[in-house]
Amino acid sequence: VRDPFSESEDAFLGHVGRLFGRPRPRRGTVGIGDDAAVLPAGPRRIVTKDLLVEGRHFDFRFLSPADLAVRALEANLSDLAGTGARPEGIIVGLAWPTGDADRRRAGGFLDGLARACRARGVPVLGGDTTSAPAEAATISITAIGTPLPGGPVLRSGGRPGDVLLVTGGLGAAGLGLEVLAGRWSVGETAGEGRAAAAVRRAWRRPRARLDAAEVLAGRARALMDLSDGLGLDLPRLARASRCGFECDAPAIPVHPAVERLCRDDREAMHRWALSGGEDFELLAAVAPRALARLRRLAGERGVALHPIGRLLGPRAGQWLRGADGRRTRWDARGWDPWERTAGEEKEKSGSRLDGSAPGRVGGGERPGNRS
Ligand SMILES: [Mg+2]
Repeated sequence: VRDPFSESEDAFLGHVGRLFGRPRPRRGTVGIGDDAAVLPAGPRRIVTKDLLVEGRHFDFRFLSPADLAVRALEANLSDLAGTGARPEGIIVGLAWPTGDADRRRAGGFLDGLARACRARGVPVLGGDTTSAPAEAATISITAIGTPLPGGPVLRSGGRPGDVLLVTGGLGAAGLGLEVLAGRWSVGETAGEGRAAAAVRRAWRRPRARLDAAEVLAGRARALMDLSDGLGLDLPRLARASRCGFECDAPAIPVHPAVERLCRDDREAMHRWALSGGEDFELLAAVAPRALARLRRLAGERGVALHPIGRLLGPRAGQWLRGADGRRTRWDARGWDPWERTAGEEKEKSGSRLDGSAPGRVGGGERPGNRS
């Protein structure tokens, strides 16, 4: 891995131009090499931005620079998927410390990002870099997308009676970070070892559900990606749609590796599925009459759709229905980056890396098996 900071700016830009030479942007687009990118006229664009700060959102004790590149890219692609869009390209901002280890990491990050972009067929259209203070690597990616047929699909299109669907098992990424941080003790069995590897990988190498977006665009009335956990994100979709909702607790899909690691603790599984965050599955609201065709199509494309409940009228409230049929008010937490832990006033925001995990923030509700 070469050191990107050892070169003149022109040499660095040449290196970056070669590194990110593939895939090429589509015709009519000007990417890396000029003062600014030029996008062709045509469809509406969907634009999203993500900011990742060392010590706040990531820690090199828990992931490699290449993992970080995958996370940074996929988090943005997930926001495009959650809007019913396909990626057209990304623009990358990097502020990076200049110590020896940092410079090696910068090279690893750039190589990893180039690889991840090639694997996804997403061109890098431009960017900017600067040096940064120690231990404050910062990555900002802006992703630009075009709507899929029937897209964009916003959070606000849901109506009372719509069925709520989730595209896959939840909780793995959140528990993965807990395992990486040593806050969850993994049993000695081979089964638990494999499950622990699966949840670690889920956090380090998420994969945006661009495949599910292809199926849901034009068929779902409301759509979003689950980045902060179903506990926070479901009320966001319902509020945007001016609806209440009812969610069936036993229907919420739990990632199989989370089930394994939680053993028989159903309460812990449920809390991870609701508050883990960063699973990057999609949440959709679909008209009941559109459901049969959608499920057929999803089946053909190998996309799982799990019905978890329904939207209700605007004043019907937000409810979780247990296995016994009893309803309780929705109070599950996802991850809120502005949340503060008690006694953490000097910190600007809560972070799962410094122990202010979701649920734990609110008073020790985070499921854990380590005291
Ligand atoms: Mg989102």
